[in-house]
Parts: sequence; structure tokens; C-alpha cells
Amino acid sequence: MTIFDKFRPFLDRYTLAEQMETNPFGMPFSAFTSPTRAAGNGRSLVLAGTNNYLGLTFDPRVKRAAKDAIDAYGTGTTGSRMANGSYRDHVSLEEGLADWLGMPSVVVTTTGYQANLAAIATLAGPKDLLVIDRDSHASIYDACTMSRAKMVRFAHNDPKSLDEKLAKYKGSVTGSTIVVIEGLYSMFGDVAPVADFVEVCKKHGVYILIDEAHSIGVFGEEGRGVADQAGVLDEIDFFTGTFSKSFGSVGGFCASKHEDFGRLQPLMRSYTFTAAPSPADAAAAKAALPIVRDGDDLRDRLWKSAHRVHQGLKQLGFEPCSPPSPIVAVEIGSDIEGIMSWTQLIESGLYVNLALPPTTPQNACLLRLSLSAAHTEEDIETILFAFGKLAATRESMGQSHAAE
Ligand code: PMP
Repeated sequence: MTIFDKFRPFLDRYTLAEQMETNPFGMPFSAFTSPTRAAGNGRSLVLAGTNNYLGLTFDPRVKRAAKDAIDAYGTGTTGSRMANGSYRDHVSLEEGLADWLGMPSVVVTTTGYQANLAAIATLAGPKDLLVIDRDSHASIYDACTMSRAKMVRFAHNDPKSLDEKLAKYKGSVTGSTIVVIEGLYSMFGDVAPVADFVEVCKKHGVYILIDEAHSIGVFGEEGRGVADQAGVLDEIDFFTGTFSKSFGSVGGFCASKHEDFGRLQPLMRSYTFTAAPSPADAAAAKAALPIVRDGDDLRDRLWKSAHRVHQGLKQLGFEPCSPPSPIVAVEIGSDIEGIMSWTQLIESGLYVNLALPPTTPQNACLLRLSLSAAHTEEDIETILFAFGKLAATRESMGQSHAAE
């Protein structure tokens, strides 16, 4: 017996992927020519799996800010802000985010993953209760483990299930309770009924944290997210986000309407015991913020493309997992069918995400697309053309791609 035996089912699946001409997990891109075009494995590809919702990775203002920051501050931060101090853009980015969200406490972290660790694992301890959506992102699950608080899950996007769990565990909590939801769920592209969740939290007198990694920049006034769109941003206690999607950079943040939250910085292990965001990443995120805030035209373009692709896939016989949103996912049967379908899309010049268990909720095998404001008319045509070819192949093989 070896230490790897317990991973056999997982390794078998990934061995199959590795044997394909192009490996879906870790696609080797040799060049990017725009936010929506790249070369990979000798092909020119339209990118529809990058989370580059507003297309800012190639925005000249964002690129300029990153280059200038390297010239002014160098390439790396060499350590934590607690030990090595803060750079100009760490601080001004926090100020800008506080102003944008109307929240006095903001802590910038090196990734969005670390933002969830910083907020959840610091706020909650062994006497507290974390009540999370069953389909939460891995960073939320990991944060719960790290906190050593009791963790309870409620049914996905189901305020009634949350209500029942809170009622059930009320008597047994000696500390505080935090409910954790996301704004837009990254795999199925479905949106949380945030106002209903807020109401349940108020009824039970518990805190609520929302992870808006995929929804900032995309929903709400000035792109403030799903809670803002639902009119309840001021009722949210804790808010986490990332710069790796709409902001076209890398990094994350946690924020709160509670002033004391920001003072917990030294206790946030994923902030204190790791290097601060690079000068280029912080500067790019800071330059992206006003573009996100003023980005109604970008949001219009993004939503138009999202509706077109959603509608186009339906016309081809695919059944998107959710109503239209910038994430459009379709279930594709088995993992082998998923790998074959993904490969055929690559051959047609289209890159999407292949998402297989265990990284998906409900053990779904998904082809997942994320749309971008930067997608051109021609890009959208390529997306629908590639899926049209896939639909024809699957039909000829007797495979169904409509939801059961
Ligand atoms: N939260 C959610 C809901 C996410 O989907 C992700 C990343 N996909 C993260 C947090 C982590 O963000 P980052 O990539 O910046 O670490």
C-alpha cells in the first residue's frame, strides 16, 4: 500500500485527461492577444472560461498602472504588511474600496481565497457557529475548518432551510453565529436570494457574510454586487471579494460595516503570515476600481452577451443550469463525455472550463462558460458555432445534453 492509493479514483480521472492531446486541467497557453483571445497548443482560441467579466486584464489604464508600480516599487513585497509595512496602493486601495462599498473597514489580502480565510477564520472560534450554503466555495469550507467553530450547512440558495437550521441550533450556541452565502455561484451561475437571507438572519439576530467574488463589477449600482442590487448592502455585516475576476488583477479583500473588524488585521493569519499583494497587482486593482464603478457600458455589453449565449445554447438543445448570468453552465453527463466534449470545443477554437467532481457541487460534470464585456460579435459567433458542432456530434452518438 502506498500513500497515493487512496487517491486512485481521482488519479485515474486525471490520467485520462493527461492522455488527451490537450489537458483540460492546466491548459498550456503560449500567448494572450486580448482578454478574449489566446494561442494554446498550436491553436487560436476564443476564451470563454476566464472570469474576465469586464475584460480589464488588457485595459491600457490598468496595464499602465501595473507597469508604473513596478518601476516605482519593484516586483515583490518580500513579506507581510505587518512585518514589512504597506505600499502606497495597499492603503489607497483599501480607502477606495471603503468609499465604494460604504464600509469603514477594509482589509486587502493577497488572494480572494485568503480574504475568506481572513474574515471567517478570524471572526469565528470554537464557541461560535458557522452556517453556510451547502454549495459554498472551497475557501469558505477551508475557512470553517481553520476557525475550529462548529459548521452547519443549509440547502443551496434556500432561505427556509437556513431558517430551520438556525432554529435548530439556536439553543446550543454559546458564542456568535455567522451565516455565509455567495452572491453569484461560480459553477452553476445562479444568484442568491440575498434579501430573503438577510430577513432570516435579522429574525434570528445573527451575522451575515457574503462572498461576492463573482458578482462585484457585474451586479448592482456601480458594480457593488448582488446584495446592493437586492437593496440590502447596508444590512450585510461582512463582505469578501477578489480582484482576480472583474478587476483584471490578483488579490482579494474583506470588508465590514463594523469598525472593529479592520482592527483585527494582526489576528488574520492569512494576512499576517503571508506576503502582501505585489505592487503591480495592487496598482492594477486600484486602477480598475474607478473603471468598475463607472462601468455601466461594460456591464451592458457583458449582460447582452450573457443573454445571447444563454439563448443560443438553449436553441441548440442544451439546458443551462440557471437563468441568464455571466456564468453559463451546462451539464454534460459523465466525466468521459465531459472530457471528449471539452476537447471537441478546443478543436473548434473555443476554450471553456471543464468542471468535474469533486470540484463541483452536486457531483455535476459541467461545461462552464464565463462571458466578458470584451467578447466581440465574432467571439460570440465562435462560441455558438463550436457548441453547434458539439450538439451535432452528441446527437449522432445518441447522447442527450438536455437536463433530465
Ligand atoms: N470565492 C469564490 C466564490 C470564488 O469562486 C473564488 C475563486 N474562484 C474565490 C473566493 C477565491 O478567489 P481568488 O481566486 O482571488 O483566490
